[in-house]
Amino acid sequence: MAERTCTGCRSGYDKTELIRYVCDPSGRLLVDYRHKLPGRGAYTCIDLDCIASAIARGGFSRSFKQSIAIPEADALIQEVIGNLRSRILNLIGMSRKAGAIVSGSNSVLQELVKPTAALLIVATDAAPGTAEKILNRARGADVPFFKLFDKQTLGSAVGRDERSHLVLTNKKFAGNLILEINRLKKVAGEN
Ligand SMILES: [Zn+2]
Repeated sequence: MAERTCTGCRSGYDKTELIRYVCDPSGRLLVDYRHKLPGRGAYTCIDLDCIASAIARGGFSRSFKQSIAIPEADALIQEVIGNLRSRILNLIGMSRKAGAIVSGSNSVLQELVKPTAALLIVATDAAPGTAEKILNRARGADVPFFKLFDKQTLGSAVGRDERSHLVLTNKKFAGNLILEINRLKKVAGEN
């Protein structure tokens, strides 16, 4: 386990549980959510308080051993949210390529009663009547669900026109998505 210290709360965690940041050549702090950018990294928990306290206490400049241009906390949190949204859409796209996504109201309703149904995502602008019918079936079948993204965004994530409802039929993809969606909700202050 590769442990790193959160620049905010100073606790150590496996790095996969943390947000990674890098410093660009002009000294600006960037969010590297996927842990891909080269160079020295700094880390925080995926937590609003840890991000705020890393900024307030100069933790980032200490981590990079140089003076860093830190965005305002709100801007940095928006950047984290943007990274999380891309990560989630990317996971949805990967699930689609793996043949693990069912969409379209009728197919979704049929899929939700099968044991393979692992996660339901409902667009925030889905027609309320149909959405309620689909959500009720998910509740009845004990399938976890989230309201997330608009129809346009969900559609383009699976390479189609607008999509109001998606069901994931692969437990591993669904597990990864649920983890990232919960992180997004936490950072966005929704729970
Ligand atoms: Zn922390």
